[in-house]
Amino acid sequence: MVAKVEKPQQTINPFENAQKMLDSAARLISLDPAIHQFLRWPQRELHVSFPVRMDNGKWRMFKGYRVQHSFARGPAKGGIRYHPDVNIDEVRALAFWMTMKCATVGIPYGGAKGGVIIDPKKHSQKELERVTRRFTYEISLVIGPEKDIPAPDVYTNSQTMAWIVDTYSALKGHLVTGVTTGKPLALGGSLGRDKATARGGTFVTREAAKATGLKIKGARVAIQGFGNAGAVAAELFSEMGAKIVAVDDSQGGAWNDAGLDVPALVAHKAKKGTVKGFRGSKNITRDDLFALKVDILVPAALENQITKENAHLVKAKILLELANGPTTPEADEILHKNGVTILPDILANAGGVTVSYFEWVQNLANFFWSEAEVNARLDQIMTRAFNDVHKEATGRKVNHRQAAYVVAVARVADAVKLRGFFP
Ligand code: NAD
Repeated sequence: MVAKVEKPQQTINPFENAQKMLDSAARLISLDPAIHQFLRWPQRELHVSFPVRMDNGKWRMFKGYRVQHSFARGPAKGGIRYHPDVNIDEVRALAFWMTMKCATVGIPYGGAKGGVIIDPKKHSQKELERVTRRFTYEISLVIGPEKDIPAPDVYTNSQTMAWIVDTYSALKGHLVTGVTTGKPLALGGSLGRDKATARGGTFVTREAAKATGLKIKGARVAIQGFGNAGAVAAELFSEMGAKIVAVDDSQGGAWNDAGLDVPALVAHKAKKGTVKGFRGSKNITRDDLFALKVDILVPAALENQITKENAHLVKAKILLELANGPTTPEADEILHKNGVTILPDILANAGGVTVSYFEWVQNLANFFWSEAEVNARLDQIMTRAFNDVHKEATGRKVNHRQAAYVVAVARVADAVKLRGFFP
């Protein structure tokens, strides 16, 4: 029986949006209706409820999910999120996007995502460890290096992955490092993983700049969000000779038209917890940052930031979506009409999952690569992916988001078709 989209959880239901993107790509490539229906829903969903003992000795129930959207091209792959707003449609959408992202860059995975409904800020490390271990036990039925490989997502990190590895290994009777990625280096993590998302984004931007005649050296860049993705993007773009004129975070912004000193800004953020108040900079609001006359705008914070209300403000030539889902479908149309080249999330931020793939390969082989080797292979994959998407965009006269979906859906559909439906 086909499940129903559960409502109401958010005004914008991300899974309905995801299905709409699939439907539109399916129309463009005249996708076989049976395969289209197959891809509209996750292949498998595990809903779990489990008890965990709190530090005060009392038991508390938690609810979590592991959604595996597709196994067509390989084991499922995707992060685990700890957040009070986790809900099944969000997890379904994120799992779908993982399938699309892995197919866009051509790495041999399907898509998955997991989540636990929890406010991690209200729990001690010991409680989070027990939640992680019990959740791992619950989903151990469906995860594993050849089945489904979790990774960090919002409010989970390399320590969470280490606990998952330990719990899963205890169940198997031997160390299984390949069950997660995003692990600490001491437990089979990969060099280069920490900067991979932003680095992949800079490779894609470099290729888009070549295609559109923009020079990165001297280009003006504004970045929303100064965390793992945004701060590393600032560092890498400035190493490439670009000028970072504005950044912001959840507490405020820093704007200096002459360019911000990125290493000093990173030190300021580490000390003060925000980029706001950085010497020589002025505070800036989100929409003023979006409205700056820059060459490259990088949303690297949250979903649904560029909307039909503020999209007309954007003057950038290239929009690099390091965040997942930062642009609403209405905003997408406005930006496209205004001639902005959007490098869509499923391409732009796929560097993270690509180096996760390298981590898994290194774990399976028990042979580890140098950082230079990781970065060179990442460059190869991201450059090829941009060229595949750009060729499709030019050939079909569609925008890069539609083109990326066409590339991805066609690759997944090809695998489904070749395998055929069982029995
Ligand atoms: P992070 O927690 O390290 O950083 C998030 C940053 O966004 C912080 O600086 C925070 O202050 C800022 N922020 C939060 N609310 C904001 C607001 N309203 N306005 C401006 N800034 C705000 O997270 P991250 O890992 O950098 O992830 C950022 C985005 O990139 C997310 O959408 C994530 O899904 C996506 N992403 C990250 C990776 C990765 O490997 N880190 C991979 C793929 C996609």
